[in-house]
Amino acid sequence: MSRTGIGYDSHRFVEGRPLVLGGQVIPHTMGLAGHSDADAIAHALTDAILGAAAAGDIGTHFPDTDDRWKGADSLQLLRAACALVGQRGLGVAQVDVTVILERPKLGPHIPAIRTALAGALGIAVDAVSVKAKTNEGMGFVGRGEGIATLAVATLEVR
Ligand SMILES: [Zn+2]
Repeated sequence: MSRTGIGYDSHRFVEGRPLVLGGQVIPHTMGLAGHSDADAIAHALTDAILGAAAAGDIGTHFPDTDDRWKGADSLQLLRAACALVGQRGLGVAQVDVTVILERPKLGPHIPAIRTALAGALGIAVDAVSVKAKTNEGMGFVGRGEGIATLAVATLEVR
């Protein structure tokens, strides 16, 4: 038996912060605004994993009013979500992520992002899919104001 969850996250670009996606610092002129490291890949995936277990969302378990998560490495949240669903007898089998951004080009960084996510999730790299696309110049992503991320996680009963 398996269970599937979906996650979504978006963050605004700001100057003076590093761009962190999937636990990797991506060279760029701007970073993402947020209480934690604003890692939109890790946040969308965390919500997908919690969603698959019907276990609430990232804001419930890791509220941005909690100073423990201020500037936090969001891969920690991902590990914590895996532990939480693990207590319910569920384990992550496979994930798929789509990052929507105009720039920078994410392609060269995708292998490192997949490896980092696989490590945090405790699964094989070939069970971690990460894709990037632009928004064809449309909307807030198209104007370069921020990025959006979608994620799907499949959990199996253990
Ligand atoms: Zn976020």
